[in-house]
Amino acid sequence: MGRKKIRRKKKNGFKKFWKLGFEELNTQHFDINPDGELVVREGNFQYNIYDIVKKYGTSTEIVFPTIIESRVRDLIDTFNAYIKILSYRGRFYYHYAMKANQNKEFVLPVIAEGANLDVSSANELFVVKQMIEQDKFNAKIRVTCNGPKTERYISLIEELRNRGLIVIPIIENHDELERLKKFKGEVGIRVNMDIKIDAHFDKKYNRFGFLEEDLLKIGKVRNLSTLHYHISSQIEKIDGFLKPIKRALGIYHKLKEKNPALDTLNIGSGAGIPFEKSKKLYSLKNLVNQIIKTAKNESDRLQLKHPNLIVEWGRYVVAPAQITIFKILTEKAIVNRTDKKWYVIDGSFINDLADTWGIHQRWHIIPVNYMNDKKLNKVWLAGSSCDSDDKYTASGSYIVLPHLSDTDDLYIAVLDTGAYQDSLASHHCLLSSPMKLIATNGEIKIARKRETPEEIGRLFGW
Ligand SMILES: *Cc1c(COP(=O)(O)O)cnc(C)c1O
Repeated sequence: MGRKKIRRKKKNGFKKFWKLGFEELNTQHFDINPDGELVVREGNFQYNIYDIVKKYGTSTEIVFPTIIESRVRDLIDTFNAYIKILSYRGRFYYHYAMKANQNKEFVLPVIAEGANLDVSSANELFVVKQMIEQDKFNAKIRVTCNGPKTERYISLIEELRNRGLIVIPIIENHDELERLKKFKGEVGIRVNMDIKIDAHFDKKYNRFGFLEEDLLKIGKVRNLSTLHYHISSQIEKIDGFLKPIKRALGIYHKLKEKNPALDTLNIGSGAGIPFEKSKKLYSLKNLVNQIIKTAKNESDRLQLKHPNLIVEWGRYVVAPAQITIFKILTEKAIVNRTDKKWYVIDGSFINDLADTWGIHQRWHIIPVNYMNDKKLNKVWLAGSSCDSDDKYTASGSYIVLPHLSDTDDLYIAVLDTGAYQDSLASHHCLLSSPMKLIATNGEIKIARKRETPEEIGRLFGW
C-alpha cells in the first residue's frame, strides 16, 4: 500500500512537471504512462505516441480531430449560453478562419460541429466551391470573404452567390466598393480602427480596411449587413477585446443612420492559446461573458438594437489539435557555453514550425519517452537545415530534456502546432515535410506520407 502511494505521487509529479493534464493549458488529454511515455486520450481511447513514432518514424505530425470538434462545440455553446444568461437579443455566428489551417482533416470536423467559414483568398473560396460541388454543405452555411479581392476572387464570390450560397464579401477599399456595387447578396465593410492594444500583430501601421473617417463619409452601401474589424491575433488581455467592441459599436451606430439594414458586428479574431504554458490566459467563459456584456451595455447606452455577433477565431480552435514529433539525432557543445547543449532534431523549425523564427513563437516542448527521468539537461534545439536561424532557444532561455546518454532513442513533441505552421511550411535544404497522421476513433490513419527525394525534386523542376 505504502509503496503504491509513493509511486503514484511521483508519477503525478512528472505529469505536473511537464504541465500535462491542465484544461487551462489545453493539455487535459495528455498523460504519462507507467513506462514514462506520452499518451493522448480521446474519450476512453488512448494513443501511445512513442509506439506511433517507432512505427511511422519522424518527423511526424499527429492531428486529433476530436479536439477540434470539442473546441468548436464548446465555443458555440458558450456564446449561446451567455447570450441567454445575459438576455442579449442578437444571434451568434461562429466563422472558422480557414487560413489558420486549410487541411481537409481540420476543416471537415470544424464544419461538422456547425461552424460557418471565413476565407482569405480566392483559392480558399475555391476549396469551398469544391465542397459545394461534392454536395457537402448544408445550404445555410455562411461564408465571409476577407483579403484583397482580385477579379477572380470576386467572380467566384458572384458565382457561388448565384448558386445559393450565403457568401458575404467584406469590402476593404474604394475599388472593391465600386466593383461590388451591384452585388445582389449582403455585404460587410471593414474598418481599420484607430485603436491600439497590446499584441504582436497590432502593428503601428495597419493596412486593412477603411479608416474610420473615410468609412463614415461613404454613406449608404447597398445591402450592407455587417461591420467588420480584425485588430490582432493572440490578444493577451480581455481588455484588448472589449475596447475595440465599444469603439466599433460607436461606428456601427453612425453607419446605421444611412444603412438601416446593418444588423451584425463581426469582431474578427484575437482569441489566444497559452503556447508557453507559463502564463495563464483568460478562460473561454470569462472572455465570452465579458464580450457579450460589453456588447449589450454599449448597445443599450447607444439605444441600438443588439447586433448579431460574429467571431472568426482560427488558431483558438485548431492550434491544440496537432502535435509535431521529432527525434533527437545527436548532441553538440555550444561554443562558449557550458551550462547548455545543442540537441539536433531530425526536422526543421524554419521549414515546419515557421513561426519560431517568423514571430519568435514560444512552444510547449516535452519528451515523448523517458518522461520519468530525473536527470535533465538544459538544451537548445537545432534544426536539420544548414541555416543558423534554424533553432529554438525559447527566446534565449532554454528547455529541459533527458540526458541522451541515458536513452536509446529520444523523441520530443512540440504541442499546439495546429495553426498556421502547415501553410507557412517550406523546403529549405530540400528537407521533406513531416508525415501527417490522423488519430481518430482509437486508430491511426496516414493523411500524407513524408515526401520521397523524387517528389521533393519534382517540386523544383527535377
Ligand atoms: C487571421 C485572421 C483571423 C484568424 O485569426 P486567429 O488568430 O487565427 O484566430 C480572423 N479574421 C481575419 C480577418 C484574419 O485576417
